Amino acid sequence: TPAQLKDTSSHGDQTPLGSDVHLDEKIKACFVALVRNEELSSLVDAMRQIEDRFNRKYHYDYVFLNDKEFTEEFKETVQAFASGPVKFGLIPTDHWSYPSWIDQDKAAQVRKDMKAQGIIYGDSVSYRHMCRYESGFFWRHQLMDEYEYYWRIDPGTKVYCDIDYDIFKWMKDNDKKYSFTISLPEYHATIPTLWDTTKQFVKENPQFLNDNNLLEWISDDKGETYNGCHFWSNFEVASLDFWRSDAYRKYFDHLDQAGGFFYERWGDAPVHSIAAALFLDKEQIHFFDDLGYYHIPFHNCPFDKKVRLERKCACDPTSI
Ligand code: GDP
Repeated sequence: TPAQLKDTSSHGDQTPLGSDVHLDEKIKACFVALVRNEELSSLVDAMRQIEDRFNRKYHYDYVFLNDKEFTEEFKETVQAFASGPVKFGLIPTDHWSYPSWIDQDKAAQVRKDMKAQGIIYGDSVSYRHMCRYESGFFWRHQLMDEYEYYWRIDPGTKVYCDIDYDIFKWMKDNDKKYSFTISLPEYHATIPTLWDTTKQFVKENPQFLNDNNLLEWISDDKGETYNGCHFWSNFEVASLDFWRSDAYRKYFDHLDQAGGFFYERWGDAPVHSIAAALFLDKEQIHFFDDLGYYHIPFHNCPFDKKVRLERKCACDPTSI
């Protein structure tokens, strides 16, 4: 909305793109990408956009995480595209493997059944590890310890507009903990018991439910059922402290024990979204309608023409 846009430009971060901000204004923040070696070219495509539109002025750090060692080619290439410090992290095996309590035969049978039903990524083991990792572990990686905020980057994504303010600092100054650019309904077949598992957690831990929560957005019947609405988590600018909180850690452990990352195909997007909606104050969740963002097959292009021209948004809001 225009009000939000006015708000974002009123925080004294008016340095024109191209000149550097003072380092002492920067906060502890990084870009983080979970990525495979073979996604290098689409990753640097995304980095190039983020550098051009934002980071060439701020030089924030990058953290790259992988369940396999990054190749030398990967490392030297991303280093060439980054204007800030770059770090590479190998994921510890216990963050990317079956927990002891998971019945792997049962999990294998589920993958077979989901494949037969044509459920997207239904037969993939690695996709499940990825979703569990993005839900419960990326923020626990040692390399993330020094940071307060992060911006998740997925290969092949685009940022359409100039970002002429420090969005990490904006998040912090405005006490925002989670932000999104696109929201979508989830495929119900991937999360049949996620909501019941969540309800059980809230019943056992009512102290974590925020008094000013966003339940009305994720449920159309006052919490009886989940309507599937979720923030599309391939873009996230968010507070690491939220995931580090007691509420979220306990919630994740509860979900992990229930096994739905493997016995169903719970995505990190609904998990993050439900947690944000229930445990945060709704004022702490922010919709960035002024960045312009694309991840196949959807985009968000600012609707206001004035914004598109001022920010040089390379997109058309009436098409994809
Ligand atoms: P989609 O966006 O839901 O279609 O899922 P993707 O396959 O694009 O994966 C989401 C993110 O996780 C991307 O950043 C991928 O690079 C990353 N990713 C997915 N699977 C793996 C994996 O097995 N290993 C690593 N290192 N990264 C992965």
